[in-house]
Amino acid sequence: MKINFKISEFINSDTAIKNKINNMPDINSMDNILDLIINCMQPARELFNLPIVVTSGYRCQKLNKLVGGSINSQHLNGCAADFIIKNMKPVEIIERIKSSNICYDQLINEYDKWVHISYNKNNNRMQILKIK
Ligand SMILES: [Zn+2]
Repeated sequence: MKINFKISEFINSDTAIKNKINNMPDINSMDNILDLIINCMQPARELFNLPIVVTSGYRCQKLNKLVGGSINSQHLNGCAADFIIKNMKPVEIIERIKSSNICYDQLINEYDKWVHISYNKNNNRMQILKIK
C-alpha cells in the first residue's frame, strides 16, 4: 500500500501556530499516528477515492486544552484524527467505513460536522458513536 498522506497533515495546527505551541509528537505518538494512517486513513482514502481533509490530528496537552478536547482524548497520543470529505455527510462516511473491512477503535460523528476515527493497536473496539 502506497501512503500518500503527509505526516504534517496530522501535526500542523493553525491554533498551535497562533498560540506558539510546539505540537511535535514524541516517538510513541508518532508510532501511533503512523498506525492510524496505515490502518485507517489510507484505507479510507482508497475506499472513498476522494480527498480526505484532516481537520485535527495529534494534539499535545496544551493544544488539546485550547481546543476543548477531553482529558482522555485519543488525539493526545496520536491515536485519533478528525476529518472531512467534501460533499459527504459524516453519517454517510461512517456508514461506508462501517461496511468496509477497515479496523478502528472508535468512529464518531461529531456534531454532524466531521468524523473522528481512532486506532488502538492493543484493542480496537469497533465502536460507533455520535456526539450532538
Ligand atoms: Zn476527534
